[in-house]
Amino acid sequence: MGILALFTACSPLKTEMQDLAKDNGAETQIFAMDTVMKMTIYGENAEEILNEATQEVYRLEKEFSVNIEKSDVYQINKNAGKMPVAVSNETLHIIQKAQEVNKLTKGAFDITVAPIVKAWGFTTEKQRVPKADELSQLIPYVNSDWIDLNTEENSVLLEKSKMAIDLGGIAKGYSSDYLSQWLRKKQVTSAILSLGGNITAIGLNEGEKWKVAVQDPLNEDEFTGILAIEDESVITSGGYQRYFEQDGKRYHHIIDPKSGFPAESGLISVTIIAKDGTKADGLSTALFVMGLDKAVALWRNSDDFEVIFVTDDKKVLATEGIADSFEFVGAEQGYTYSTISR
Ligand code: AMP
Ligand code: MG
Repeated sequence: MGILALFTACSPLKTEMQDLAKDNGAETQIFAMDTVMKMTIYGENAEEILNEATQEVYRLEKEFSVNIEKSDVYQINKNAGKMPVAVSNETLHIIQKAQEVNKLTKGAFDITVAPIVKAWGFTTEKQRVPKADELSQLIPYVNSDWIDLNTEENSVLLEKSKMAIDLGGIAKGYSSDYLSQWLRKKQVTSAILSLGGNITAIGLNEGEKWKVAVQDPLNEDEFTGILAIEDESVITSGGYQRYFEQDGKRYHHIIDPKSGFPAESGLISVTIIAKDGTKADGLSTALFVMGLDKAVALWRNSDDFEVIFVTDDKKVLATEGIADSFEFVGAEQGYTYSTISR
């Protein structure tokens, strides 16, 4: 498994970080949601606020985890095909957002892919290649239309007993949105969060935009480019972030719900830049599955996100709306760069 890659998907550039003590800043690094999270905030009471923020992350983890027995998600899965489970507003909201991205991406993003993710062992650490007939028995149960959300009673029912959901493709984005709202309520006006390499910037960094590096998917010590952002999220999905090898072949964790296999779309990373971090997280996973052409078509029909694509033939492509805020630095590693127009 690419341990290092888990938290270097993209990262705020260290050289850009302020002197914490000088600016009333505080920083913490924790392990939650199966990944490394780093939060840096500035201003009055930074340390105290950061401690509380950490507790908020653990609280969200307890709602969204597939493995923690008391979690909403665990209970939803356990009661699949049986009865609706009462859940928090947050769980209801994140599932609703997942449903929206499912529709928007015509099923490329689908949280009901959980039984397949499990068959590959990505949620259990015992990774393996499932047999074709095992996968073909699971694929019919990947169907987000069979998630019944009851917004009056705040409950969720999976209609078939073999169904399960996994929020791994969207929970970090949701958490970053939640935390940035929460921090703003605490009057924090400058902060940067890195939840497993997914970056969310609050405000500015000493009056300048935050600089965020987009990782070279083929070399975790290098970048393909540097983004300048303010009050938005930068969320990357890539096969290099989590994978295992068997018989000389590499299998990564982003599953094409139609085939049940790790997506092989010609893309090696997809970075979404958007105000809505939850949607950005769902989209990064989905666009990776869809491949460049379908992903670009979806972008052309939307106006609330931008994308940096990296392809397996070493092209870095930035959509028009972000090109001015993206500095390409991948030439030395053999990448070529171009922009995608509307
Ligand atoms: P991300 O890192 O955001 O791309 O999310 C990848 C994680 O989402 C995986 O580790 C799985 O838990 C889950 N996942 C994998 N494939 C999909 C998919 N097609 N739709 C939704 N979630 C997925
Ligand atoms: Mg995602």
